[in-house]
Amino acid sequence: MADTRQSDERLTGLEVACDTEVSGCVFRMRTEVDDRDRLLEITRDHVSERHGTEYSLEEIDEQHVTEVEV
Ligand SMILES: [Zn+2]
Repeated sequence: MADTRQSDERLTGLEVACDTEVSGCVFRMRTEVDDRDRLLEITRDHVSERHGTEYSLEEIDEQHVTEVEV
């Protein structure tokens, strides 16, 4: 069954941008709010693999994730 509800609400997404001390990294990801955990894990893996820096998921969540309208 199709969902015929019209949603006037603005959808909110999450965006994370890699802004570690390493300039020139263009890692940027946008996802839906429901995918927050996955976004955090992917970002953590990126920072760990590419920059050798270990962040906790909480640190990334607090410092690097911003809510955006999609
Ligand atoms: Zn990066």
